[in-house]
Amino acid sequence: MNSAIYKSLVEIVGEDYASDRPEELFTYSKDLGTSEPKWPDYVAAPKSVEELQKIILLANEAKISIVPLGGGLSLAGIALPLHGGILIDMKRMDEIIEVNGKARYALVEAGVSQGKLFAYLKKHHPTLAHSLPDAPPAATIGGNIAIHGQGDLAHPHGFNSDMINGLEVILPTGEICRFGSCSIGSGWFTQHPLPDMAFFLGWGGTTGIITKVSLRLFPCKKIRELDMLVVTDEELVPDIFHEITHVGMTEDLVVFSQAIPPMTDRLHHIINNISGDSEEELEFKRRLIYDDRLSKFIEQGTVGIVATSQDLEKPSVTKTADWRKGGGFEYVGSVFPVAAYPELYRKGVEISTRHEIPYTVTGRVIGANHAIMFSWSYAFNRADPKSVQHANEALHETDDLVLEFGGTIWKPAVYGQQIVMKHMDANTLALMKKLKNMVDPNNIMNPGNWEVA
Ligand SMILES: Cc1cc2nc3c(=O)[nH]c(=O)nc-3n(C[C@H](O)[C@H](O)[C@H](O)COP(=O)(O)OP(=O)(O)OC[C@H]3O[C@@H](n4cnc5c(N)ncnc54)[C@H](O)[C@@H]3O)c2cc1C
Repeated sequence: MNSAIYKSLVEIVGEDYASDRPEELFTYSKDLGTSEPKWPDYVAAPKSVEELQKIILLANEAKISIVPLGGGLSLAGIALPLHGGILIDMKRMDEIIEVNGKARYALVEAGVSQGKLFAYLKKHHPTLAHSLPDAPPAATIGGNIAIHGQGDLAHPHGFNSDMINGLEVILPTGEICRFGSCSIGSGWFTQHPLPDMAFFLGWGGTTGIITKVSLRLFPCKKIRELDMLVVTDEELVPDIFHEITHVGMTEDLVVFSQAIPPMTDRLHHIINNISGDSEEELEFKRRLIYDDRLSKFIEQGTVGIVATSQDLEKPSVTKTADWRKGGGFEYVGSVFPVAAYPELYRKGVEISTRHEIPYTVTGRVIGANHAIMFSWSYAFNRADPKSVQHANEALHETDDLVLEFGGTIWKPAVYGQQIVMKHMDANTLALMKKLKNMVDPNNIMNPGNWEVA
């Protein structure tokens, strides 16, 4: 351990926000998934862009790794310090700088949590909403867009990383850059039509640290309800999605199937979020969806409407995360054409059964049925090495399966990143390499992840 680095960190952020003490580093050495613990040498929690910039300059000079950490909830080991170094905890950079109600955007620091923004909008701007992921509320805005997250407005508006009006980023060599209208003036209202240079989304903190995000907001209706439909035949799910998305009346369209509780086993539950400022608006939307588009399925008896209610609890992987007991949980996410759903579901059941894990699969429609974000969750018992091994094997098999079936892996772990890069067009990979080498000449940013350099 280099005490000069620790002293410099203390000078930058203060004694309370820098540490090299094992009992504190321990907390940062793990995530919820199957990854082996990886210990940072130091942790620092900057409060401002200036403090963060100083840390990055220090790390670049000393050629020591830095890994940005938001909520640490992406699992897959992608925010663990694979090569030690300084772990930068972004949670103190959590100011909601501006909410522009008329232009519908929020300018926030990257460490603002999903829960904080949600609560703030609910209290101060109840007619505005951002696309909220199902992740625990401590997940951050910066961490979510760094991995192309998606939330509960995915059907009308796509990935959360498509909802960016501007970004501020610190490069691994310390320069602060802005992208979008904010690069030429004080407004954060658009990322277009300037040349696209924002190669920070989806890079998992390997090209720079995002410090500010202008995030698009959308109308938040007074009543937001969930309807639940049940489908017995997986082959029908893509058609049902196609019909529902035709009328564009839905906020979020999610399907799940899971082995536990037994009443959900082998059935496909479709959660349809609809919202309105009045009962009439909701009724109108429901009429278009159920009477106009789904009536033939309902009359045939292949789709059943189980519930329509404001109070219906949204299914969440958090509920299925501890089925093996022992607190282990990780999933493979992927993006596929919606038509792939039946096959992905069947493979999910097969892989889970083979590895003695109760299956859970979930899909979320992205855009107007343009794609589905499909995930296979594997719970395991941390205290039982055999259970961990099963989950690990299941995760790797699933990564392989995604590429075999022509999909893309979402927020891949290192194994998934490697096989994605192996399949990638050679020129694209070469460009990634050039960009990475150019912005991060000392390879200090989250090394081990997206290792193209
Ligand atoms: C139960 C559960 C449900 C989930 N549901 C969803 C869901 O519905 N939708 C969804 O999108 N995700 C979901 N997730 C995955 C994940 O929790 C979220 O995407 C979350 O928003 C990630 O944010 P984070 O702050 O935890 O990121 P972290 O895990 O801290 O970081 C993610 C990656 O980004 C990097 N990073 C972090 N901050 C920055 C920054 N400021 N600049 C550059 N790089 C940075 C990290 O190094 C890491 O590589 C879920 C997870 C769980 C456990």
